[in-house]
Formats: sequence, C-alpha cells, structure tokens
Amino acid sequence: MTYIITALCLRDSSCVEVCPVECIIPGKPGDEWPWFYIDPDTCIDCGACVPECPYEAIFEEDEVPADYTAKGGEYIARIGLEGHYEGENDQGEPVLLECTRQLEAGETVDLTDDIQPNYDYFTDGPGYDALDS
Ligand code: SF4
Ligand code: SF4
Repeated sequence: MTYIITALCLRDSSCVEVCPVECIIPGKPGDEWPWFYIDPDTCIDCGACVPECPYEAIFEEDEVPADYTAKGGEYIARIGLEGHYEGENDQGEPVLLECTRQLEAGETVDLTDDIQPNYDYFTDGPGYDALDS
C-alpha cells in the first residue's frame, strides 16, 4: 500500500518537507508530469503528508475517490486540459500550469485515474533517476 497524489495537486510542495523518507518528487517536465509524485516502493504509509496539502490532493491508495465531488473552483491538472493556473508554492515561488481545468461545484471526477501515474513516474518516467541521484 502507498499514498497517492492526485490531479488536485497544484505543486505547492508543502508535503515534501514532512515526508520522513523523502519519497515525494516534483514531476518534470511539468507539461508531461504536472503533479508531485509519491514513490510507492519507498512510501512507508505514515500519512504525514496528507494534512499538509492545502488542496487535499493526497489519499491512501485504497481511498482515492472514484467520484470526488467538487466544492467548486478547485483545479485539476491533467495532460490534455488547456486551462491556465497561476499561483505560488510554499516558498513563494511562482507555479504555472498550462494543463488545468477549474471544477464546477457538485461536479464529480474519477481520481482513481491518477493512481497509475504515481507508479509510472518511478518506472517509465524520470522519477527513477531523481530518486537515484
Ligand atoms: S505517507 Fe508518509 S512516507 Fe508516504 S509519501 Fe506521505 S509522508 Fe511520505
Ligand atoms: S502539498 Fe499537495 S499540492 Fe502541494 S505538492 Fe504536495 S500534493 Fe501537491
């Protein structure tokens, strides 16, 4: 079991500092890997990252919702979306995402689609090298 970062992530990086095993990595390049990703082989399931996320983007894998109900106004970031998000991370540095969409209140989104990229980033993606370095 592992924890999963979903498309609700807006790269603010708050989770990174609390992870005791340093297994949360910012996706790069951002237009191909728009979130931060948790290495499932290294995560020790401590849950420390969950309350740190201001966007409530992190879930235990078994609890990732298939029918997340939007409050309204929150963003998701996924490849192929064409909306623009501009914010800042917890260091005050700019965060720009070009593959976002703002959700309507009451809209439901299947966030289980976001489980596999957490695995892929560390197998097929650049995360393997990032952890190794
Ligand atoms: S659950 Fe714990 S070990 Fe896993 S990513 Fe979050 S902080 Fe790191
Ligand atoms: S705290 Fe949340 S929004 Fe920030 S990088 Fe981690 S998962 Fe993404």
